[in-house]
Amino acid sequence: MKKMKKKPRDRFDGDPGIDLLEKALRGFDDLVRMAVNAAKEQLEVPPTCESCSSPGCCHQLVLLSVAEAFPIARRLAQEGRDSATFKEKLKTVGAEQEKLGRREWWKRAEPCVFLRDGRCSIYDLRPIMCRSYFSWSEVELCQPPRSSTVKTVSFTGVGRAMVVLNKEICDQLELPPGPAYMAVLPRMLAIILECMDRSTKSGVAYLKKQHFMTVPELEAWFGGAARFEKTSSEEHQQEELR
Ligand code: SF4
Ligand code: SF4
Repeated sequence: MKKMKKKPRDRFDGDPGIDLLEKALRGFDDLVRMAVNAAKEQLEVPPTCESCSSPGCCHQLVLLSVAEAFPIARRLAQEGRDSATFKEKLKTVGAEQEKLGRREWWKRAEPCVFLRDGRCSIYDLRPIMCRSYFSWSEVELCQPPRSSTVKTVSFTGVGRAMVVLNKEICDQLELPPGPAYMAVLPRMLAIILECMDRSTKSGVAYLKKQHFMTVPELEAWFGGAARFEKTSSEEHQQEELR
């Protein structure tokens, strides 16, 4: 029988570093649970999400870090969900999201590239931004294309933990300091899939050439402002919890 030629990305199957990242991603759920419980006590009501199964929130613009992208990209490759067509879609949607910004993207009412039949098709590996997004408003307010007046709570500690994890991974890859190594979800995945299809050296060189958000841009995002366009506090109310 003819032996199948190994692809560069095959080296990531069973990669202990990515296995650990997967565990770390799931570990964030405990952190989020603690933050939600604290918010429940402070606000004296549970989040609306506890009794909601609507995918309304999965039409938002989500940011993804390099650290979070590797496990997702590996899963997509393993499941054969990394076709050239899908990779092209990731690039196109990512470019559109960056052009439009958070608020305008929301108005387009376009589902996330991973929303299938109303459910997240990468649920156990979903981004930390998705894991930590909770609404304390009526479900209807989450539904696109309405202008959002959703009341959310900003879990600063969770965001910081994610930034620390991402920095650790980027340091290990010897990426230069400076960028926050985050981008909109579709573009980040397109970048990491491309990176995994190259040798380690060429993949890292490719990563170094990509544009990522800067730390101030990221801080502005977590502070309530979008990178690409500011949202007023009237449109997106946030409470800070540490
Ligand atoms: S954020 Fe909104 S749509 Fe999403 S689960 Fe919570 S209440 Fe439902
Ligand atoms: S990654 Fe999953 S949870 Fe996050 S927005 Fe997309 S479909 Fe929703």
